[in-house]
Amino acid sequence: MSVRWGLIGASTIARQFMIDAIRAQADGEIVAVMSSSQERAAAYAGENGIPVAVSTLDALLNADIDAVYISTTNELHLEQALAAIKAGKHVLCEKPLALSSADARKMVAAAKAAGVVLGTNHHLRNAGAHRAMREAIAAGRIGKPIAARVFHSVYLPENLQGWRITRPEAGGGVVLDITVHDADTLRFVLGDDPVEISAFTQSAGMAGSGLEDGAMCIWRFKSGVIAQSHEGFTTKFAGIGFEVHGSDGSLFASNVMTQKPVGSVLLRTAKGEEELSFDREDLYTRSLRRFHAAIHGDGQPSATGEDGVWSLTSAEAALQSAKTGKAVAIDPKLGSAS
Ligand code: NDP
Repeated sequence: MSVRWGLIGASTIARQFMIDAIRAQADGEIVAVMSSSQERAAAYAGENGIPVAVSTLDALLNADIDAVYISTTNELHLEQALAAIKAGKHVLCEKPLALSSADARKMVAAAKAAGVVLGTNHHLRNAGAHRAMREAIAAGRIGKPIAARVFHSVYLPENLQGWRITRPEAGGGVVLDITVHDADTLRFVLGDDPVEISAFTQSAGMAGSGLEDGAMCIWRFKSGVIAQSHEGFTTKFAGIGFEVHGSDGSLFASNVMTQKPVGSVLLRTAKGEEELSFDREDLYTRSLRRFHAAIHGDGQPSATGEDGVWSLTSAEAALQSAKTGKAVAIDPKLGSAS
């Protein structure tokens, strides 16, 4: 049985990755796209071979679809997800799920009550590199994990220098954009949950309207692991990577905080150095495969709605810490790490 998708949002991410990822599924079909402008919807549908173009949520939800992928700007996710859930559709929503963790919890509760699948599109969990790191840590290959460092400061491409750096009301800023991903990737790789965060943010010249375009965070995890992360929009030449250091070994992953299945992971122990091999499947294709399986009753999406609540709660705590100058507890009012 095929899964018939409606796209909510004529976005860049759908055009660059998600349309292909849906079509890469043997049972994936895109039926309709919704934009707030009928003209843009029609142009987008034409460019991407999508049969139906609409400009209202009702029209999209009335199309013959099973699931929606929400990739509008962040302030719209909540209302759109709740309406789709109410209409009995499965929802794969972009991060951050909403503008507040309280709203994200509403989405999780609504999906649970309606018996539909809710996933958060945290693509990095689907990277072979991160799965190899998670497996190595779980297998005890670095001994007891002690500390982690995430290097995730990029240069925001010119075509994306819009709402992210100008519109606080749309959920702009680097913390809601990138720190949420780091929160999720740290949780996934360490198999641990953060309990506290301290953050500094900056406006290094790109973002306006009081928005931050750089952040440095220090995290404490339940097990006692401490971590640092750097997120940015303004660094043209910085490397991206992820290190985890344990009592018996260290993992050095380079060029892995990215949308492509690239990079390398090196394990260093008393025995010497070993390059870990990992699967190079497209991240978004794997995310869709897991989402389709969840719809068919086989497991859960790679990142669930609860995972989206965790990452947003962490980002909220980071913003609060940056504002108050104090460490802030992270409490998503949910269960533990998945
Ligand atoms: P875009 O800016 O490309 O799209 C967001 C919205 O902007 C669209 O829904 C569209 O509104 C509007 N828009 C786009 N182009 C135009 C235009 N030319 N004129 C007017 N309006 C326009 O955002 P992204 O694709 O970068 O991000 C969308 C969501 O996806 C965000 O929630 C973001 O956080 C998330 N994201 C996730 C990634 C991941 O890897 N998980 C990566 C990138 C983004 P309308 O639909 O009404 O036409």
